[in-house]
Amino acid sequence: MDRPLLEINDLHVSVAGKEIIKGMDLQVKQGEVHVIFGPNGSGKSTLLNAVMHLPGYTIDRGVIRVKSQNIAEMSTDEIANLGIGISFQHPPKIKGVTLRNFLDAINRSEDLDEAVKALSMDTFLERELNVGFSGGELKRAEVLKLYAQHPDLLLIDEPESGVDFENIAIISKAINKILQKERPMRLRERAAIIITHTGHILNYVQADIGHVFMDGKIVCTGNPQSIMEDIKKAGFSGCSACIKQQKDHA
Ligand code: ADP
Ligand code: MG
Repeated sequence: MDRPLLEINDLHVSVAGKEIIKGMDLQVKQGEVHVIFGPNGSGKSTLLNAVMHLPGYTIDRGVIRVKSQNIAEMSTDEIANLGIGISFQHPPKIKGVTLRNFLDAINRSEDLDEAVKALSMDTFLERELNVGFSGGELKRAEVLKLYAQHPDLLLIDEPESGVDFENIAIISKAINKILQKERPMRLRERAAIIITHTGHILNYVQADIGHVFMDGKIVCTGNPQSIMEDIKKAGFSGCSACIKQQKDHA
């Protein structure tokens, strides 16, 4: 049960010539749900996009392993085929491709129709992918995409941004279903990294490990709920003060 799905060692990533990720380590094992908190512009999306080798994200140093395989020379396609799926913060709009065309091309799930209904996407199947979708619709379509892909590791970038509470509940339920959280007698098989700005998702999806990402690296790891409480009370400047205090005491 505790096979590492993802191992990141000393990762440095630059975007448009600027170093954004400045030496970070992370290990995600099968069954674990990690949440990453961090200020706007700190590089959270960069991290997920770099793991998927999306264009524009240059890995300057470090090693990323998926299921023990070094992915350095792999294409995005090959990485996805290793069992990693990403739900984008800002999903691209694809004219000329309907949601149905898209799902047909990627589907590996036997009960996709159920998920289409549960996510209320039935009336969107003939629409062009993400074109004119509202905030909640975009995120529901992204989670439906993950459902269809059935990846072992889900990278979920801000599922609740631009989404009302009702949609957060619907999206979370689908995420839990993918993670098999709705079957309490069975252990989770899959794992996830969820980036959250508001932390609302923690009310629905049970997370195991929380991280604060600031200044290009993970600066704090611990219980997700207590990290969120601290951020709510003191903001990310509270995190900076806490890190300084720890350094001074070291
Ligand atoms: P977060 O997700 O934590 O809000 P991002 O990873 O989106 O942060 O962005 C980190 C930094 O990288 C920001 O300063 C952002 O402007 C910059 N950045 C991201 N993508 C690009 C890009 N395509 N071109 C130039 N700068 C970028
Ligand atoms: Mg982001």
